[in-house]
Amino acid sequence: MDIITVKDKSFKPYISEEDLQASVRKVASKINNDYKDGTPIFLGILNGSFMFFGDLLKSIDLECTVSFIKLASYEGTNSTGEVNELIGLKENIEGKDIILVEDIVDTGNTLVKLHEILSKKKARSIKIATLLYKPEAYKKHHPIDYVGMEIPNDFVLGYGLDYDGLGRNLSSIYVLND
Ligand code: 5GP
Repeated sequence: MDIITVKDKSFKPYISEEDLQASVRKVASKINNDYKDGTPIFLGILNGSFMFFGDLLKSIDLECTVSFIKLASYEGTNSTGEVNELIGLKENIEGKDIILVEDIVDTGNTLVKLHEILSKKKARSIKIATLLYKPEAYKKHHPIDYVGMEIPNDFVLGYGLDYDGLGRNLSSIYVLND
């Protein structure tokens, strides 16, 4: 892994593909254990979760369904603080167990918005699975149930996470090189 340039910024290697995959398997194994008797809905938060979602689901051995919702809270490398629902959930989730799949939990604004949307639709339970979690940035009180890795409050790129739409296809994670 080398230093890379994406648009106008330089990023250095941060989390290897091997370490990412080990974290994904760790999260999958906990979920497999916790939902042995259920049929959860895995709800992916687009765009950033798509790689984690795909790899996670390959290691899930439960009866389950999948769906997606699209939200946005970032412009460039700064949170706008506002989360807008872009593409809503179509199916009936009343009485269902939801596992929200996030690429990264930062301020927690996205999670709060999702809880609002899903509570109105009367889901039976809502749990959060995130590949990355920034505890120093998190400002909310919802528990984060499944965490792949905790990271400091730095801007990261790759494995689904973008900088102005770019870099999502990288198979490992990079961090801003200042
Ligand atoms: P939150 O609502 O928790 O502040 O932010 C959640 C969303 O912000 C994530 O799903 C992700 O799209 C974006 N985000 C947060 N931190 C980072 C980061 O370090 N890098 C990138 N590329 N996106 C981030």
